[in-house]
Amino acid sequence: MRDETLFSGNQLAAILQALPDPAFILTRSGRYMAIFGGIDARYYHDGSYLIGKTVHDILAPDKADWYLQQLRHALQRQALHIVEYSLAPDDVKGWQAERATPRLWFEGRIKALDFLVAGEDAVLWVASNITPRKELEVQLRTQSEVDALSGLLNRRKLMGVLAEHFDTFERYATPMAALIFDLDHFKRVNDEHGHLAGDVVIKTTAEVCRRELRATDAPARLGGDEFVVLMPHTTLAQAGPIAERLRQRIAATLAGLGSIGSGVTSSGGLAQFLPGDNSGEEVLKRADDALYQAKRGGRNRIAGGGA
Ligand code: GH3
Ligand code: MG
Repeated sequence: MRDETLFSGNQLAAILQALPDPAFILTRSGRYMAIFGGIDARYYHDGSYLIGKTVHDILAPDKADWYLQQLRHALQRQALHIVEYSLAPDDVKGWQAERATPRLWFEGRIKALDFLVAGEDAVLWVASNITPRKELEVQLRTQSEVDALSGLLNRRKLMGVLAEHFDTFERYATPMAALIFDLDHFKRVNDEHGHLAGDVVIKTTAEVCRRELRATDAPARLGGDEFVVLMPHTTLAQAGPIAERLRQRIAATLAGLGSIGSGVTSSGGLAQFLPGDNSGEEVLKRADDALYQAKRGGRNRIAGGGA
């Protein structure tokens, strides 16, 4: 057992006040009864104004209800309840003034107390500001999923999305079409205008994809001048006109760039998931074969549409 006499009451209070992260005593009804610590001024403002107020006094209704839910959960389970949550200016009443303030992220560690506070069940809620880690997490995830030049999904992320669509196809026979397209004679752009001009053509092509396709169509850059568009809930017959329109818009937009883009066209290959496919990658293989046919057939066309 701990030596109960090691610290005086005043010393224990001082120790609590010295905690870097703030620790709140919150009752079941969501009232802040006390706050200890939170002295790390890099991350926390003085929270003493909260005392006596309820989460509904402080927070937007949805957020306040979420707090109450967590309180109930911690009180019911008794065990330590750990949650991650964010607070943005819109969530906290009176915070709208500082519009530049970004979203803050917290890890809450919530433990039921085994005594009543002001006649109510209560918890200890320690809130740790994890915003720097969370922002790094988001940045790393984006970097690992997005192609830096075009801003489209990269090959790795594309393969992940493809595998998810294939799972759905196997389970529910939901169709999905895939388009692979590649710019025609793109090497000439680099040769005649330089690599930076080539990059502009790639970025512009990506921009057309973002503009012309649905958000769910997951345009990706496989590498070089090669792109993939996955079209969930879309049959080959439906994908044909979409691919054709995209091909025309790319040519028209690149022509708008002037000499570096004029005359740059694209060739595409279409395919769809078929019963008997063993993996999502088989559809890309068929689309790639169709792309080869489009190139051989004279470029500036879509093949594999079945029409
Ligand atoms: P094809 O009509 O057969 O597609 O011929 P192509 O000239 O377009 O050549 P291909 O598709 O085989 O090769 C694409 C070229 O794109 C190869 C490389 O020089 C160039 N390239 C690859 N990545 C980049 C990049 O990030 N930026 C630029 N500017 N060029 C790139
Ligand atoms: Mg090419």
